[in-house]
Amino acid sequence: MSFESLGLENALLSAIEATGYTTPTPVQIQAIPAALTGADLLVSSHTGSGKTAAFTLPCLQRLIEQRAQPGSGPRVLVLTPTRELAQQVEKAVKTYGRKLRWLNTACLVGGAPFIAQAKQLSRPVDVVVATPGRLIDHLNRRKLKLSDVQMLILDEADRMLDMGFAEDIETIVAATPQDRQTLLFSATLDGVVGNLARKLTTDAQRIEIAPAQERSGNIEQRLLLADNLTHKTRLLESLLESDDLQQAVVFTATKRSADELSISLREKGFAADALHGDMQQRARNRTLDKLRNGRISILVATDVAARGIDVAGISHVINFDPPRCAEDYVHRIGRTGRAGRDGIAITLSGPREIGVIRAIERYTGKSIEVHVIEGLEPVSRVPSSRRPPAARGKHHHHGSRDRSAQPNGRSSFRNARPGSGKGRSSAHGGGYAHARSATPKAQTV
Ligand code: AMP
Repeated sequence: MSFESLGLENALLSAIEATGYTTPTPVQIQAIPAALTGADLLVSSHTGSGKTAAFTLPCLQRLIEQRAQPGSGPRVLVLTPTRELAQQVEKAVKTYGRKLRWLNTACLVGGAPFIAQAKQLSRPVDVVVATPGRLIDHLNRRKLKLSDVQMLILDEADRMLDMGFAEDIETIVAATPQDRQTLLFSATLDGVVGNLARKLTTDAQRIEIAPAQERSGNIEQRLLLADNLTHKTRLLESLLESDDLQQAVVFTATKRSADELSISLREKGFAADALHGDMQQRARNRTLDKLRNGRISILVATDVAARGIDVAGISHVINFDPPRCAEDYVHRIGRTGRAGRDGIAITLSGPREIGVIRAIERYTGKSIEVHVIEGLEPVSRVPSSRRPPAARGKHHHHGSRDRSAQPNGRSSFRNARPGSGKGRSSAHGGGYAHARSATPKAQTV
């Protein structure tokens, strides 16, 4: 299958060629021809699947086919949950639209100066990429009209709903024409996303790309068990020192712990910086630039801030705190293994965080292999006969955990809440007070 066979204009094909991509990804193969027919689409696809190009290319094709009337407003509107993702999408629009000299785009996100954005909107704009909150501000202040929108894209719709944007989305959609084409992309199409999809689309074609278990094909997933916070910190430092690590994103549960951890890593000589939602957009961009150009190698981030980060050098994702839910896990590990490369995702789990790990395994349908780092083995009561052989290398793994064979594991962690980290109290995920008594028995072998 080639891009030529998808029915795209030459101007787009040559821009694709310039990116070096030769074959469309599955979501592109299915969504591009379907979108070109003008149909509404509901696409379940994940980050890293090539979904951005899957909606950007049909949008650009529409713009090529129907040039703007004088005085008209944007004809393509893309809504994304986060600023970083919006910027990433705008960049993709420019990349694939590089041959279209007349193309004007605007990225309307919070944290950036409103006035500069308003000024941008005073000129004709073909494509607006926005986060819902800031777009509403512009609508309210009449800096923007959406009555010429022909294509509306909701990117990561599930995440937008998670972040409480449901009402904003409805307000925005109400300002667009009824006969627009709507493309909704989401990790899942069930539940509340399904309800939203029904409201916003007409006779939508459903495209389901990858079942959960296939989502992270080129990403090796590992689990390291930690006895307590000190142990976890040592494990992290050892991982960050490993030779095969180019760049890493380290996830924490809270903004405060992202700040604290990045400071303590810097004090220990690591080139680390924090990225979280309390930072001004300009500071967030600066940090991401530093990551892109290699001035820092470690980004300590929270979930929201890390959405949409697409840096090819990220060889490792390290979950210092496990994510709140399994979907976040898939998004987190998708920060590595970008653009067809391999990646390693390592989750550090305290004794009481094992429940979340189990929920993740159920969601992805894949068990996460337990590894240990020589010299930093967890203090466990594993019978000596079941201990793994001493490792030659620095890291070695213990093979997959067989959940069915280890009934003790689950009951040891009855305080952990699968699929939710809500009960956790400390900035670092908590659960360490009784670390020794709750140390897993069977999981470490
Ligand atoms: P996305 O799912 O849109 O976040 O894209 C994931 C990554 O895949 C980005 O780095 C894209 O530039 C890259 N990509 C998109 N389409 C292709 C393709 N057809 N072949 C190879 N890489 C691609």
